[in-house]
Order: sequence, then structure tokens, then C-alpha cells
Amino acid sequence: MKLPLDASTTRETYEPISSLEVSIFYFLVVITLLVFAYGLYQRLKSYTEGPDDDFPRLNDFTTRVREATRIAFSNEKQFDRDIYAGLMHSFILWGFLTLLLATTILAVDLYIYGRFTGESFWIGDFYVSYQFAVDALGLLFVVGIGMAMYRRYWVRNDRLFSRHSSLEDHLFIWTLFFLGVGGFLLEGVRILVNDYPPHEVVSFVGWAIALAFEAVGVPAGESSAGEAIHWALWWSHSLLSLAFIAWIPYAKPFHMISSFANVVVRDENAGARLPNIPADLDATNAESMDDFTWKERLDQDACTKCGRCSSVCPAKASGRPLDPKNVILDLKTYREQNGANEDEEIEIIADGGTSVIDSHTMESCMACMACMDACPVEIEHLKSFTRMNRQLVDQGDVDKNIQDIFQNVMQNGNTFGDSPRDRGAWADKLDFDITDARDEEVEYLWYVGDFPSYDERNKKVARSLAKLLKESGVSFGILFDEEKYDGNDIRRIGEEFLYIELAGHHVETWEDCEFEKIICTDPHSYNTFKNEYPELDFEEFADDPMMPFEYTDEWNADGEIEVYHWTQAVEELVKEGHLDLDGTELDYTVTYHDPCHLGRYNDEYEAPRELIRATGSDLYEMPRNRDDSFCCGGGGGGLWMDFEEEPKPSEERIREALEDTEPGDEIEKFVVACPMCMTMYEDGRKTGDFEDDIEIVDVAELLVEAVETKHGEVGASAGSSDGAVSAD
Ligand code: SF4
Ligand code: SF4
Repeated sequence: MKLPLDASTTRETYEPISSLEVSIFYFLVVITLLVFAYGLYQRLKSYTEGPDDDFPRLNDFTTRVREATRIAFSNEKQFDRDIYAGLMHSFILWGFLTLLLATTILAVDLYIYGRFTGESFWIGDFYVSYQFAVDALGLLFVVGIGMAMYRRYWVRNDRLFSRHSSLEDHLFIWTLFFLGVGGFLLEGVRILVNDYPPHEVVSFVGWAIALAFEAVGVPAGESSAGEAIHWALWWSHSLLSLAFIAWIPYAKPFHMISSFANVVVRDENAGARLPNIPADLDATNAESMDDFTWKERLDQDACTKCGRCSSVCPAKASGRPLDPKNVILDLKTYREQNGANEDEEIEIIADGGTSVIDSHTMESCMACMACMDACPVEIEHLKSFTRMNRQLVDQGDVDKNIQDIFQNVMQNGNTFGDSPRDRGAWADKLDFDITDARDEEVEYLWYVGDFPSYDERNKKVARSLAKLLKESGVSFGILFDEEKYDGNDIRRIGEEFLYIELAGHHVETWEDCEFEKIICTDPHSYNTFKNEYPELDFEEFADDPMMPFEYTDEWNADGEIEVYHWTQAVEELVKEGHLDLDGTELDYTVTYHDPCHLGRYNDEYEAPRELIRATGSDLYEMPRNRDDSFCCGGGGGGLWMDFEEEPKPSEERIREALEDTEPGDEIEKFVVACPMCMTMYEDGRKTGDFEDDIEIVDVAELLVEAVETKHGEVGASAGSSDGAVSAD
């Protein structure tokens, strides 16, 4: 169709209102902008009152903004696990931004270009393209809002509702709806009273609405009815738009600004590395809202109440008293209602139900990071949670079992409370000796970890890994009784001083050894050695008489020492042919569980899978795999505490393996790559009555079985055999 365009094709901007009304409108615009600016100022003031954050947030700012823009425009976080939400949010976002851009273009034309040139660029081809784009994207906007309403009011998606649901949620969505629909109605009546200007056919939605108006009796062309409707719609749409703009900084619409800002200032390693504490004993953790940094305050304001974090939280799923969305919003509500600096404060966290957050809520957290992974606006839950856990430790409000663990670590250097002298005893059953890395130079310094050293089931895993390293022909050694607990999980439950003591001990010990790489059996150790030990300020604590180390440097600040989870190192060895596997040795049907500290924390998903495939086993995925993995329940101190859970996370996960994988109950082995997972799943297998259905094995055990199937028992020349997976 050829449109009858000429250079003057355009339309009147303030067609239905008088010049007096135009002045009133501008007056209202000024009021709106002032109200908006005041609200924004209040928000920014609240952030500037918060302490500095512990990590750089504004460095490399252009890249940060570019990446945040990519994340926001692609809606990739919204699409994750929920295509409907992804489409819905994309339609709303793209539509809203188009309408915003269209208004901005018009303002530039009227108040800048027009002022200086006396002309307009909002004419001719540009005008009709503009009108078409606005109608097309505006329609998408209304469709997106409709999808959101359908989900909220018809489907009643559980995750959208909580004790923090309020009138603002409804007002927000209905305001957007009326803005979208009102804009089209206004366009329709404008086309009608102008008697269908032919070029306006590009405004196809408005054109259709004009026909609808005519169908219900409003005549085309100038008429008193048409003009009255035009006037009423112009003012109602304009007043609603102004009210919405003024409201933005004060309620839920603020997430349109705060969420984007939160993505810009995110920490890529959030959760995997926790902030350090000052040596100053007067420093407080979460005594009051004053302790929460500006980033933690922004986190609270960025929350859109989408409930994604809660829907993936294993603590919530198993009935523990924790809902991550509510924790963030409880803190926000307290901050907004009581103010950050009021005299009448209540405790942020304590026992007894009178505090903002109850201690049992924080004890329930497994530090699995599923909430952070699911959060579309990059809220760093674990940062605030750790702050509160540290406060609990300061206050002495610590679960009895956890107190015992702290005591064990303090007295014996391990969480089991066993003798440090027995730390290397797991190796006695091997047919070969393991090098003492304190005495001899090795390529791999192997940090064995607490569970593989002291827990009977995990000792078998340690012996399997020892055999793999032996068979690979690499030089490796361990620290025997000089090795202590790595500290990762006690740090996550708030015991920072003991953690620093352990870290100081290890780096000082490692300084006296000669090695190239550190490998860890446990992803928890791997995480803290890789991400946290290099950031500790040992110098600040070295003078403290309570700290039994004198180390004052930054450990491994230049990354010279490579730190690996053992699956990463052995995957390389397998690739290089050290284990001489041809991939047909075993034919089990297995599934693999991604440990949180290896997967979500450190993005390592493939190395364990490659090793499983290298054995010849058929690997099938559970629906929740890789970054969607469901925690075993053992992280964040969960392994040491007793909870009333129904079902236990480990039972739910084994059920998933047996019911929701493609082969279902044909799955023979549930493969893990973490000693804590091993302990939790062996327990879940028993309590969930799965003992006859499935076996729990570590990747190392599977790999040793493959090696021994092909080559005979590893290390047999040095002594006796004790089975196919002869690590007993
Ligand atoms: S870290 Fe895991 S357990 Fe803790 S709140 Fe987040 S999802 Fe829940
Ligand atoms: S914290 Fe993130 S995932 Fe959770 S409700 Fe808020 S925005 Fe959604």
C-alpha cells in the first residue's frame, strides 16, 4: 500500500486541550518531576548513609553498564527455567522502553530541535515509522501485561504471593495496564475525530479502535461526543502517566531503576567469596541496619518480589523456616519503616521471635546459592545472610551442634573432634605409601579434607583418589597431621576468627612445602582456597596473640599456585592418557549430582561428567542439573544440624533421580563429587528407604572401578586386594 505522504505529514501534539490547559499540564509536569526527584534523593540518601561495600562495584564501569544492558535487554534471567515469564517480561520491557523512547523523541523534537530550528523532524517518513513502531511495541506491552495478569490472577502462581504481597503489586500492574490501553484508546479517538487521515493506517491498533468507537455510535470527524471523549482520554492518560512517574521512587516501580543499577554493580564472585572482617573487635556485623552496606540496601530495593529465589530454595522446599525472598523483604520493610538510624531499634537477628529475622531462619540456609543464581536482578542474598550469621556468632546464639563443631575445630583442627594424629590414617589400608609433602617436593599437593580423612564412607573415596593419582604416575603428597579443616563452611555460618586462624595455618604450612598445584577432594575446600584465601588480609591478624600464625603476605595474590578440584586435575590426566581408559570399561546407568560448591559456586560442570563418560557408564541428567542443581542439604552447616524436614533435600533428590530421569528406576548409581554430598545422600538413601534401589558412589570410585576392570587392581603389587572398588 502506498501512503499519501508529504513532508508535512504529522499530527498535533496537544490537539484536544486549550492553551490554558497546556500551561496547567506543564505545571503538573514540574510538580511530578519534583516529587520524583525528592523520592530519588531519599533513596540515594539511604544508600550513602550505608557503609562502604567490601568489593569494588564501580570499576570498569563501561563494561559493567554494557553487560548489565545486555542482561536486561535479553531477559536471559527471566527466561531461565520459565519461558512464559521470559516472554512476558520481554514484551513488557521492550514495549515500555519503546513508549519511553517515543516520548523522549517527541520531547526532543518539540523542546530542543523545534526551539532551535523552528522546524520538526517528527514528520513524513520518520513520523509514520515512529507511529508504526509505537503501535507494534505498544501492543506487545499490553500483551505482556495481560500475560502477567493471567499468571497473577488466573493461574495464581504461588511464588508471586507471600506476606509481602500488598496493594502496590496490584496498583503497579493495573497502572501499567491502564497506561497501555489508555494510550491506544486516545490514539483511536484521535484518528476518529480527524476522520481517519489515510497515513494513520500505520497506527493499526489505534485505527482498529477508531473503527470500534464508530461501531458503538461515535461518529467519524468532528463531533461533540468524539471531542469530549478525546479530551477526557487525553487528560486521564496524561494524569495517570504523571502520577505513575511521581510514584516510581516510592514503591514497586522503583525496581525499574534499582534492578538495573543492581545488575551494574554486581560482584561476579558473590557468594563464592565472602567479605573479610576487620581485626577490630569493636566492628559490628548486623547489630542494626546501620551495618548494612549501600549495596545490601540496594539489594533490598531491587527486589521485584518475583519469588524465583524462594521457588528454588531447598530449605523452603523441605519445610525449614526460610524463605529467601521474605528475608530480603523483611530487612527492607524494617529499614523503610523504622529507618536506618532511628533510636528505637529492634535486634536484626536473634532467638525468640522478636527480631527482624529469627536465628532459625538463618540456620536453615544451606549456602547453596540457588537463590542468587535464580534471582533476575542479581541480589546477593548470601552476603546479607553471612552478615547476620556473623552477628549470631558474636551474640553466642549458635545451635548446640554447631558450637560442638567450633569446639572440635578449635581443639583438634577438624570438625569430627578426632585426634589430629589420625588424620592420615585413612591411607593405612592402601597398598602403597603416600608422600609426605612436608618432606618432599611434589607436583600436586593434595588437600584431603575432613570428611575423606575421618568419615569411614569418605575414606574409601580418598583411597580411590589416591589410587587414581598413583596410577596416573604423577607425584603427589599430603600434609598428614599438619592438615586442618579448610574453614569454608564455618565461615558461611559466621565463625570468621576461627576461619582466619585455619587459613593462616594452611598458608604458613604451604609456604614451607614445595609443590606446583593444590588439588582438593572437597569442592568446599576448593572454593575457599581458590576464591577466599587469596583475598585474606593476614597482616591485619598476624599480631593478634590468639592467631597462631605469623604470615603477613597476601597468599597466592598473583594466582601462581593453581588450585583444582580433583576432577579437574584428573580430567586433564585422563585426556593425556594417564589412566589408559578406552571408555568401554563399565556399562552402568548413572546420574550425576552437581555439588553447589563446584557447580554454581565455581562453574565447573563438565570435568566430573567427562570422567563418568570416560568409564563407559551411561550418564543421564536429572531435570535439575548444572546451575539448577538441588542442594543435598549439607552446606552452610546443614550437615551438622538437625532439622525437621519433609522430605529431606537428599531424599527428594534421590526420588528425582529414580523418577524424573529418562531411565527412571533403571538408574543404578547416583554419582557425587563431594564428600558432604556423599554423607548426605548415604543418609537420604537410608531414611528415604532407597537402599535397595540405588547406590551412591563418588566419581573417583567409578573411575577406579573402570581402571581396575581394565588393568587389575591399582597398587596390587604392593600388597593385598580388597575388592573391585578396592578402597575398603
Ligand atoms: S542459599 Fe540455598 S538454602 Fe540458602 S536461601 Fe539461598 S536457596 Fe535457600
Ligand atoms: S530476591 Fe531476587 S529472585 Fe527473590 S524475589 Fe527478589 S527479585 Fe525475585
